[in-house]
Amino acid sequence: MSAMARVLYRDAALADGTGPQLRVGVSLLVDDHRIEWIRPADDEPDPGPDVEVIDASGATIVPGLVDSHSHLTLPGGAHWIDRGFDPTDRLLRVAEDNARLQRAAGVRWARDVGAPTRTDPSDGRTRALTLGLRDRWAGHREYPYVRAAGSWVTRVGSLPHGLGVEVADGDGLVAAVTRQLDDGADFVKLYLDGPDRDTAPFTVDEVRAAVDAAHRRGARVTAHSGQLAGARNGVRAGVDCLEHGFQLDAEVVREMAEGGVAMVSTLAVLESWRSFGQTTTLPRFAEPSGRAALAARREWAHESVRLAARAGVLIAAGTDFGGGSLRANQLAWEIECLVTAGLQPWQALAAATRNGGTLLGEPEAGVIREGGPADFVLVHGDPLSDPAAMWRVWLVS
Ligand SMILES: [Zn+2]
Repeated sequence: MSAMARVLYRDAALADGTGPQLRVGVSLLVDDHRIEWIRPADDEPDPGPDVEVIDASGATIVPGLVDSHSHLTLPGGAHWIDRGFDPTDRLLRVAEDNARLQRAAGVRWARDVGAPTRTDPSDGRTRALTLGLRDRWAGHREYPYVRAAGSWVTRVGSLPHGLGVEVADGDGLVAAVTRQLDDGADFVKLYLDGPDRDTAPFTVDEVRAAVDAAHRRGARVTAHSGQLAGARNGVRAGVDCLEHGFQLDAEVVREMAEGGVAMVSTLAVLESWRSFGQTTTLPRFAEPSGRAALAARREWAHESVRLAARAGVLIAAGTDFGGGSLRANQLAWEIECLVTAGLQPWQALAAATRNGGTLLGEPEAGVIREGGPADFVLVHGDPLSDPAAMWRVWLVS
């Protein structure tokens, strides 16, 4: 297919995440990778000459997906943290594989929320490894669009030494945030779980100084948040988003809604951990105490999603592939989990598409409209009544 190809997708259904109604009998014309028009199939304008017609009957068109919690350079699996220490050339190969997996699964946008700091053999720069990939992949349609946070900014002792950027205090935090932006990060990722689970690793004032420093540069700040204490401090300090949000309460979600703080759900990680109880002998997954702790964690995480949704918090969906145990082609799993947690299927689809675009500040991400990019996916079935349809990718445009 040439770059200028005109393609008519004829007589599909359409689900764009704006509401619960499936539109049927829809035709859509693509010209040079833009959507020229979307019309009823029984009232198609003349598509003109030299058009390739695709019989899309039986399929549903959904927007290109936005994985709001990606780690392109990391392989995932039950030892996902250890894999972050793999050699640089291996991590770069993994990223190529992950990009392919994402595209084949219909994921068009990758919001990368953390990569190891390494020297990139292509440009010789020592910085978060995703940043060079983002630059080299830009403009190539076979790759996802990437927006990257650089490396994790953590308090010493929160992550294994050498994985993220470690700081000792609030001054270190501001300096590290500034350094990430100097390196070319699109936004900043703080790590707000501390070495002690019940204590936030930074005070509200310390986080606020870092957030202000990023905002002055026009960059957003997101925060890893697995524990309530860090969530509370992050939200009060004005972060733009919480990742995971596994432990939220009514007060925190109210403050999130008031402050316009978004949430990226990663519930499928907990499902994968549950499965590791059968497929590994790792005590944290397989032993009774590990299973019980995981069950409690899963219950609170689902409740957190419900609380956030009820409060009106913007929820975007992420796999946490690589930085957690999932793989890069499993965003459908998160959509299913959001429905299990209590969202309507159309809301879960919105979380994996347009809400991710809102979170990125990218108006074309996760949206289908005339004049917009032809970044969409055809799936087999109706994702508005059966979220598992999102696994059944028919075709990726
Ligand atoms: Zn992550």
